[in-house]
Amino acid sequence: MQTGGSSLMDGIESPSARGQRGGGSAVSASRDPKAIAMAVGGALIFIVAIVLIVRAVGSVTAGVGDGSRIRVAIDSETGKVFKEFRIKDGETWPWKHPSTGRATLYPTEECYWTADGQAKLEPTHVLLNSIIGKDEKTICPDCGREVVAHNPMPPTDLLLKAAESFKR
Ligand SMILES: [Zn+2]
Repeated sequence: MQTGGSSLMDGIESPSARGQRGGGSAVSASRDPKAIAMAVGGALIFIVAIVLIVRAVGSVTAGVGDGSRIRVAIDSETGKVFKEFRIKDGETWPWKHPSTGRATLYPTEECYWTADGQAKLEPTHVLLNSIIGKDEKTICPDCGREVVAHNPMPPTDLLLKAAESFKR
């Protein structure tokens, strides 16, 4: 890896830049998109950090070094969500329901949309049809959107808006 701080100067002095001297506009034209990309990247990192912090606050309470971890599970029979379900290392889903003893608990996908098309930071936890072998689209019960594996987050600007109202 190169050391930081030298890249801008290198861009001016390097042989590759000199090679492009004939088309001098190429250098300045390429600078703006780069700056925009960096700004967008910075905003995304900021958003991701906020979301991760918010999620961590909800799940940081247990699972300290006893060979278990906490995650969100949903009961395929009742739809009940277990926000802090403890899983022993190596246990694969479906996990055993603590009350019924039946293996009906599955990992969830998270939907960060609201019904009116805004983003929210406290997601709806959804059981994917595909995970239980149902050949149907999974529709979020809260907002009516389709939910898929590795469900994508809403756009950055909507998340920012949600983050701003969350801070109050
Ligand atoms: Zn939803």
